[in-house]
Amino acid sequence: MILMRYCKSCLIPDTRPNGEFDESGRCRACLFAADQVDVNFDQRLYDLECRLEALVRHRRRHRWNCIVGVSGGKDSHRQALWVRDRLGLKPLLVSIGYPPRQQAHVGPQNLANLISLGFDCISISPGPRTSRELVREGFLRFGNWQKATEMALFSGVQQVAISRGIDLVLWGENPALQVGDTGSMGEDIWDGNNLRNLNTLAGGNVEWFDEVLSDSRKSALYRFPTHVELARDGVNTIFLGPAWSDWSFSVNTAVALLEGFRLRVRSPEETGDLYASCQIDEDWTILNAMIKWLKFGFGQGTEQANALIRSGLISREEGVEIATRLDGACDDANISTFCDYIGISTEAFWATVVEWTNRELFEIKAAGRPTPRFIPGTDFVGAG
Ligand SMILES: [Zn+2]
Repeated sequence: MILMRYCKSCLIPDTRPNGEFDESGRCRACLFAADQVDVNFDQRLYDLECRLEALVRHRRRHRWNCIVGVSGGKDSHRQALWVRDRLGLKPLLVSIGYPPRQQAHVGPQNLANLISLGFDCISISPGPRTSRELVREGFLRFGNWQKATEMALFSGVQQVAISRGIDLVLWGENPALQVGDTGSMGEDIWDGNNLRNLNTLAGGNVEWFDEVLSDSRKSALYRFPTHVELARDGVNTIFLGPAWSDWSFSVNTAVALLEGFRLRVRSPEETGDLYASCQIDEDWTILNAMIKWLKFGFGQGTEQANALIRSGLISREEGVEIATRLDGACDDANISTFCDYIGISTEAFWATVVEWTNRELFEIKAAGRPTPRFIPGTDFVGAG
């Protein structure tokens, strides 16, 4: 019996939530990348501009006519500049930050850089105690400390759209097309109004919050506005990614660096990140990448290798080497600061991680980290 089947073109396994392969055995992201060769991007850009023109016409005289959610990272820089300088829009940037104990110094520096580039930015930080409670419970209950944080990121941006009366929200990549998370598929390639169904947002379901928090008002930032609330205020969410021919790790990083973005250099073996440019504003996303690897059999090395394979920059074999070397990479020091933050021992951390580890894919040892039984890129046949 095959326990884990791989896409024929890249290294994504069929254990990915919301992922699906076509009859030729290729994932949606690869099919999308292959289709890009034939796409007329001038036409796409024109289509996007027409669509946006109709949506912002009534806000011509306003200071802002759209909202762009930003973290301050390389992609945020690229996106904010593209929206303003290429599309000619007037964006209000909205940043949902981390609480102080989590945030690395370079995060606010990069956000400040965006402001110095002439953007207006609203920055919202979640309540530190509430955030810590939800991070702790997300980890202990679901093996995913980011469960609540990701909700705040998306929900907060939509909430500002409603509270500020700005009825257009722009996101970069369309996750259904570009990453293969089909749950969020809208009516067409631009339509982001189904964002709540992203795998990470689980339809905006926050019932578990009420069991964790003493007062449901504390979770307000994490609640994705309902379809009714968004429709009442006419809020539209549009993806820019389909009109973007050169959206990539490397191009976005290069553009951001030229505009004053700062990196925080760490080794790939420490973080699983080839470019030292992802999630640099805090240290615990890599814990989640490691746990994802233990749950589903793929991690950040695989994700980055896949992007390079789809761009034609490396072969699938070279990708296997990257995935093998970097998947599951996570420095002990980062695990230690995380445990200190949520108030558990490292033994308790590993006990929870092992609970979430797929035992068919990984061997659990009495001491040390779980080790993979599979080879990235090779369909994995279980023992039975
Ligand atoms: Zn693929």
